[in-house]
Amino acid sequence: MLQTQGYATHSATANLEPFSFERRDVSARDILIEILFCGVCHSDIHQARDEWGGSIYPMVPGHEIVGRVAHVGAEVTKFKEGDVAGVGCFVDSCRECANCAEGFEQFCLKQSAQTYNSTEMDRKTPTFGGYSSQIVVDENYALKISDTENLAGVAPLLCAGITTYSPLKRFNVGAGQKIGVVGLGGLGHMGVKLAASMGAQVTVFSTSPSKEQDAKKLGAHDFVVTKNPENMMAHAGTYDFILDTVSANHDLNVYLNLLKRGGVMVIVGVPEKAAEVSAFSLIVNNRTLAGSGIGGIAETQEMLDYCAENNITSDVEMISIQQIEQAYERTVKGDVRYRFVIDMKSLKNGVNQKVKV
Ligand code: NAP
Ligand code: ZN
Repeated sequence: MLQTQGYATHSATANLEPFSFERRDVSARDILIEILFCGVCHSDIHQARDEWGGSIYPMVPGHEIVGRVAHVGAEVTKFKEGDVAGVGCFVDSCRECANCAEGFEQFCLKQSAQTYNSTEMDRKTPTFGGYSSQIVVDENYALKISDTENLAGVAPLLCAGITTYSPLKRFNVGAGQKIGVVGLGGLGHMGVKLAASMGAQVTVFSTSPSKEQDAKKLGAHDFVVTKNPENMMAHAGTYDFILDTVSANHDLNVYLNLLKRGGVMVIVGVPEKAAEVSAFSLIVNNRTLAGSGIGGIAETQEMLDYCAENNITSDVEMISIQQIEQAYERTVKGDVRYRFVIDMKSLKNGVNQKVKV
């Protein structure tokens, strides 16, 4: 077994703290990744705090992992030592069901093994995520990443990138379309960059007036402060597509009413409580309300290649692992520009310093 250092939380109300645990030895089809950077997704916070129920402790969060391959098993063909590799939201699946066969491993009919807060496919061995020094993963569930100077900016693509790319592709977002992104956080800012790169005209709907300049720099053409109902009414019935990335409870009907005839709104944010949708919000203009969950391995690789070709990375605020609690607090307040990424070298600093982010 491989002795591994990380940060874990032991309950819904505890802080993250240093944690030692074992990872499996590298078997024939596995690679060992020395983790360089791990993004901080709002899903880490929801799960660490058990906001979705059923959390498993101790929990080492983190599913936006980028690192260097330190060792490969005897039968590995996709990676060699020294390559850069990534791991996203899941580390295994049954590989046989209809969904796995069609590249939707995230919806494995036997339930994929999530990167953390889950078990391996043996349904016994707990999985631990990327707030740690290293990870062992089957090569088929690791992503190939081109070696760039900004690997910290690549890490958030493994969740925030694919979660926004996948619905944009599925609904053919592109030139000539007016689209909205609701919530300018980790997912939202990737949604803006990706949709703008695909040629769409993008509006950001935000509760934070201070993000307007940034939104325009990220590629948005328009910025609407959602706290003022008059601002919203002015846009009624004009959007082809809306991507809702908001992590907290909010009124979906307000956004559905912005869709024009045949328009589609996709939910990717996962607030704690269920939303209420009025039938009229959907009936008028023949609207569609849809959802989207991360992406399969092939589509995640397609997204990484697309981002490399188009020079798209995440805008990150780098933190040390010792700053994780402050980063969580700021994320919950919507105060992140636009993804916290942990520099995993900081694990070696040891003591839990109190540092202001
Ligand atoms: P994030 O960085 O915290 O961004 C969420 C944004 O939502 C905030 O920056 C804020 O933007 C807005 N917001 C926050 N509270 C709000 C409120 N009370 N009312 C209205 N807007 C509010 O979070 P993230 O990492 O992007 O994740 C977003 C959500 O997606 C989370 O629920 C996460 O669990 C979920 N998620 C889903 C998938 C999937 O596969 N579907 C994958 C990853 C994450 P403004 O300041 O601009 O208003
Ligand atoms: Zn995530």
